[in-house]
Amino acid sequence: MMMENKFEVALTKELCPLCIKELDGPLIMNKRLTKNDAKEVKNLHKQVIGFSDEPCKECKSHLELGFMIIGFDEDQSDLKNLPWGFYRTGKIVVVKKDSPLVKHLNNLQPRSKELGFIFMDDKTMKELNLIK
Ligand SMILES: [Zn+2]
Repeated sequence: MMMENKFEVALTKELCPLCIKELDGPLIMNKRLTKNDAKEVKNLHKQVIGFSDEPCKECKSHLELGFMIIGFDEDQSDLKNLPWGFYRTGKIVVVKKDSPLVKHLNNLQPRSKELGFIFMDDKTMKELNLIK
C-alpha cells in the first residue's frame, strides 16, 4: 500500500506591496487531515499567495527616509481592485517628505501622508521629471 500524506506544511511567498519583491510568507498547514487538503497545501509550497501586510525591509527604510512614489502602468492595472490591482512597473522614487511635490500630493490624497507613499502612473512620473 502506498503511503499517502495527510499532513503537509508549505512555506509560502508573499510580495512586498510596494516594490513587489518576494518575501517569505506564512507557513501553511492543512487543518483537516485529509489527502485532498494535504495536497492543496503541498501545491502552495514556494508559491506566491498574495501581498504582504508589511513592506519589505528596504521599503521600510525608504519610508523612514522620505516619501515613496511608486510607479504603475495604468493600462495594465486592474483599477477596480486597488491597491493590489496597480500594475507596478518597479519604478520607485524617494522624495523628501517636506518637498513641495510631496505636500501637493498629500493634499490631493490625504491618506498618502499617513502611508508615506503614493502610486503614480509612469507617464505622470515622467512629466514631473521623476524618471526618464
Ligand atoms: Zn519592498
